[in-house]
Amino acid sequence: LLGADGKLGLTIFEEMTSLAVKHGAINLGQGFPDEDGPAEMAEAARAAILAGANQYAPGQGIPRLREAIAAHQKRFYGLEVDPWREVIVTTGATEGIAAAVLALAGPGDEVITFEPFYDSYGAMIGLAGAEHVTVPLHAPTFQPDLVELEAAFSAKSRLVVVNNPHNPTGAVFGREVLSRIVELAAAHDAVVVTDEVYEHLVFGEPHLPVASLPGAAERTLTISSAGKTFSFTGWKIGWVTGPEELVGRVRTIKQFLTYSSGTPFQEAVALGLGYPDEFFRGIATTLKAKRDLLSDGLRAAGFEVFSPAGTYFITADTRALGFDDAADLARRLPELVGVAGIPVSVFCHADGARRTRSLLRFAFCKKEPLLAEAANRLARLTD
Ligand code: PMP
Ligand code: GLN
Repeated sequence: LLGADGKLGLTIFEEMTSLAVKHGAINLGQGFPDEDGPAEMAEAARAAILAGANQYAPGQGIPRLREAIAAHQKRFYGLEVDPWREVIVTTGATEGIAAAVLALAGPGDEVITFEPFYDSYGAMIGLAGAEHVTVPLHAPTFQPDLVELEAAFSAKSRLVVVNNPHNPTGAVFGREVLSRIVELAAAHDAVVVTDEVYEHLVFGEPHLPVASLPGAAERTLTISSAGKTFSFTGWKIGWVTGPEELVGRVRTIKQFLTYSSGTPFQEAVALGLGYPDEFFRGIATTLKAKRDLLSDGLRAAGFEVFSPAGTYFITADTRALGFDDAADLARRLPELVGVAGIPVSVFCHADGARRTRSLLRFAFCKKEPLLAEAANRLARLTD
């Protein structure tokens, strides 16, 4: 992410989306759905605007949304969260991550993440002046080795940033891995920040929040976002829940990042969070069919495919097709065959980038005919 001059560069999402637009390619790079979420929610945002919800919201979020977030945590996970002291609304999960890292880590501290890691973690740990320590995820399941996990902890460990389900690999971490993280964090007095934006995008067992594990709640900040659950990525409404003291520290930083987040969208997200269970189950059912369609298409095109347990991303190995450098291929792919993807190596430091050199990530939150067409185009790579 850091260029040779040590400055942050353009993100891969910007770069690949512009290339896709330039070549009129099917954009399976940046992860955003090509269908909006519920029309009723869009209508609620419009109604809120027309009703005058157009000035700053309270910094912590509008009361109705904070209550809806707390009720959601209780309904799905049995978690008791006080909407007045233990919830803060953020400008997307991105701001939650930024505020949590800036609030909790600084020079001399170490922050642990898995590798590959979502790009904003690396950027924020760098901006906070902390050291970024990574634990590799291993193909084909992209699970960590528990011995390597333990070895990443030290007296300087301040924060562990978990992402479950995991972007970019689509891995879902189970009770054993998550409990080990909590034990190690407790032993080193570190805080766990867990990014669970894909909590409803899981294809097997129901999502297991870190905060629900024994001993976790008191040291865990949980982050989520309306962008993924409701397919409104442009609204940028996220939230952080956790103990009052930790949420308070996030709030202190948030004041100076954005102060508050889009008022009318908060009204609409509060409505969505109250939808019946079937709505939330339906998200995964619809996506699972898309996952299978693109997985099969990529296999037929000659890729080795690591079908994900969660998220809307598939990781595919280009070695089977005779390619080695997926970053180079990704930059040529829109022009070559009219499809854009993201090289997994951009979510890594140097060692991880070598390990993931041949991997590409494709987003499948797109209409089925488009996914089928993308797979057909990719099959031409070996023509
Ligand atoms: N975390 C992860 C793992 C993500 O994949 C994303 C978005 N793709 C975000 C955070 C950012 O979420 P938001 O758009 O709500 O800021
Ligand atoms: N999180 C989305 C992805 O992984 C993109 C978000 C962004 O553009 N920063 O593709």
